[in-house]
Amino acid sequence: MEKTIMRKMSAAAVTCFLMLFFTASSHVSGAAGALAPNELGKVLILEYHLIQPEPSEWARTAQDFRRDLDLLYSSGYRTLALSDYLQGKIEIPAGTHPVIFTFDDSSPGQFRYLVRNGKKEIDPDCAIGMLLDFRKRHPDFGMKATFFVLPGAKEPHKLFGQPEFETEKLKELAALGFEIGNHTLWHANLKHYDAGVVRKQLASAVQAIQAAVPGYKVHTLALPYGVYPRELAWAVDGSYGNTTYHNDGILKVSGGPAFSPFDARWDPLHLPRIQVTGKALERLVHYFDLHPNEIFVSDGDADKVSFPAALKAEFNSRGFKSLRVVAY
Ligand SMILES: [Zn+2]
Repeated sequence: MEKTIMRKMSAAAVTCFLMLFFTASSHVSGAAGALAPNELGKVLILEYHLIQPEPSEWARTAQDFRRDLDLLYSSGYRTLALSDYLQGKIEIPAGTHPVIFTFDDSSPGQFRYLVRNGKKEIDPDCAIGMLLDFRKRHPDFGMKATFFVLPGAKEPHKLFGQPEFETEKLKELAALGFEIGNHTLWHANLKHYDAGVVRKQLASAVQAIQAAVPGYKVHTLALPYGVYPRELAWAVDGSYGNTTYHNDGILKVSGGPAFSPFDARWDPLHLPRIQVTGKALERLVHYFDLHPNEIFVSDGDADKVSFPAALKAEFNSRGFKSLRVVAY
């Protein structure tokens, strides 16, 4: 049947068809394993704020967000949980790039329930709804994301802005396998406070999350405004009342692509992120398409770290001692 089709096509059309075919197939094979592994390449930690119909600097429309997912998927990115990144546990297929999704400020467009005729459902146009739908169509993309929530903020930022569903949403986030992170109690600028207030902000946020999801381990912090307290130690460990906290990862609000956890320069307490605004993501994906040797490419084996031998000096040989190292 293919032969019949080919015979009917003019020579020009055949050339055009072949070009399209090879362009498309080389892209797909690039995403599916043709790229040599480089687990010392950069990792994208994406930062989202508002998901809403009105465009603004800090907003993504539902259409933008769906386009982001399509772009990442077709460019060979697969979702990685922030906690797995922090543990150097990179379980994505060979030849693909990890992408870490983070959402700050618990706004309604990130997670909204619609109630129709007394029946509650997840709004298909909120971030969670879109991630669920995308996973249905592309299970291999995964659905890992961290939500940095504000349990004590003013509405509409207090735990996604539907007071009657606050507890339920935190429970459902955890049940769906999403991660919940600390963003302080009410978006406090931590440089303005002494140790006591900083610790109260961080411990109270953990306490509120654990009140909804008993035993939930919050171990990451996204700094409001990207601002550190006067002493880093206050952000890492502390307690207030009966609640203690410990953060393995601390995230800033900007800074570009992050180091691989296997890179000697990696600093999990100062992690940069990429604000997904305008065409920033598109430009970045395009950049790494053109410079594939700079991005993390998985070897498909979470117990093994693979990278070109020329990069050996950059390897973080002190961390992740249980991993098998393959410098080729
Ligand atoms: Zn924030």
